[in-house]
Amino acid sequence: MLPAHRLTIVQNKTIFISCIVPVFNEEAVIRTFIIKLQEALRDMTQQFEIIIVDDGSSDKTVEKIRDLINAGSSIKLLGLSRNFGKEIALTAGLEHSSGDVAILMDADFQHPLEVLPIFLSRWAEGYDMVYGVRTNRESESYMKRNFARLFYWLMKRMTNIDMPKHAGDFRLLDRKIVQALKQFPERTRFMKGLYAWVGYKKISVPFVVQERAAGKSSWRFSKLTELAITGLTSFSDVPLRVWGWIGFIISVLALIYAIYIVTVTLLFGADLPGFPTLIVAIMFLGGIQLLSIGILGEYIARIFTEVKARPRYLLQIKDGFDE
Ligand code: UDP
Ligand code: MG
Repeated sequence: MLPAHRLTIVQNKTIFISCIVPVFNEEAVIRTFIIKLQEALRDMTQQFEIIIVDDGSSDKTVEKIRDLINAGSSIKLLGLSRNFGKEIALTAGLEHSSGDVAILMDADFQHPLEVLPIFLSRWAEGYDMVYGVRTNRESESYMKRNFARLFYWLMKRMTNIDMPKHAGDFRLLDRKIVQALKQFPERTRFMKGLYAWVGYKKISVPFVVQERAAGKSSWRFSKLTELAITGLTSFSDVPLRVWGWIGFIISVLALIYAIYIVTVTLLFGADLPGFPTLIVAIMFLGGIQLLSIGILGEYIARIFTEVKARPRYLLQIKDGFDE
C-alpha cells in the first residue's frame, strides 16, 4: 500500500485494524480491558476487529468474554484447546486476522492504549512494522535485567538477525508482514526473532511499561530461560559448530603437550609423576564432551518437534468469525 493511500485511510478512519490479544487467566482485567480497547479503537477507525485468543485459561476468562459478546460487543474469540504459550496464541490470532494492520498487545494494561494512535501514524508514514520499546527496565529485578542483557548480547553475536533490544510483542504489523509470518511453518516459534527475520521498514516507539492492572505475570525464570534457549537455537548454529573449534584447539594443545613429554622423557628419562594432570584432563574433557552432547541434544529435540509436524495448536472455540 502506498504511503499516500495509507495516510488517506488513516485520516478518513477507514483503515481496517485487527487487534490481537492473547489471554491466559486474565479474569480480573479482561472485561475492563476489552471495553477500554474498544473505546481506543473507535477513536482511531470505523473498522476494526478484536481477536481475543484464549490460551487455555482455567479461570473465568472465557465466561467474562462471552458475557461481553452476549451483551452485544462484537469480539472475535478463539479458544485454544489447552495452554500453548503466548507465542502460539499470537500465531493463532495472526492467522485469523484480516485487517490492513494487526496490533498485538497484552490484556493486563501493561501496554498503554495511548500508544496505539502513535503506532498508526507511523504506519501511515510508510513503516511496515512499528514496535514498542520499553524505556523502564529498571522496574524489573536485577537478575531479570541482566539476564535480558546477556541474551541480547548473545543473540547479537551468534545470529545475523538484527533484533532490537527491549522490544516485545507490543507492535503493529502491516498486512504483508502478517502474511509473511503465516508462512513460517515452525512449531518452536520465537516471535521476537521472526519479527526481526522478516525485515521490511521498521521503527521503534518508546513506551513506559505499566504495572500489571491485576492478576499475576505467568512468566517464571525457568520459562524465560526456555524462551531464551529457543531464541538462540532457532536463529543461530554457532552453539552447534563451536565444538569443532574447541575440539581443534584442545587437540593442538594435546599435541604440543605430547611433544613436550616425549622431549623431556628423551632428555631426562621417565619418572612417574602427573597423576593430578591426568585427572584434570579426564574431567575437563569429560565435561566438555557432555556439554557438547547436551547442546546437540537441544538442537535434536527441536528437530524432533519439527519433524513430528504436529499441528501448532488446536481450537476449541471460534466465535464471531464469518465462515
Ligand atoms: N499469556 C498467554 N499465554 C501464556 C502466558 C501469557 O496468552 O501462556 C498472555 C497473558 O494473558 C498476557 C500476555 O500473554 O496477555 C503477557 O503475559 P504476562 O503478563 O503474564 O507476561 P509479562 O507481561 O509479565 O511478560
Ligand atoms: Mg504482563
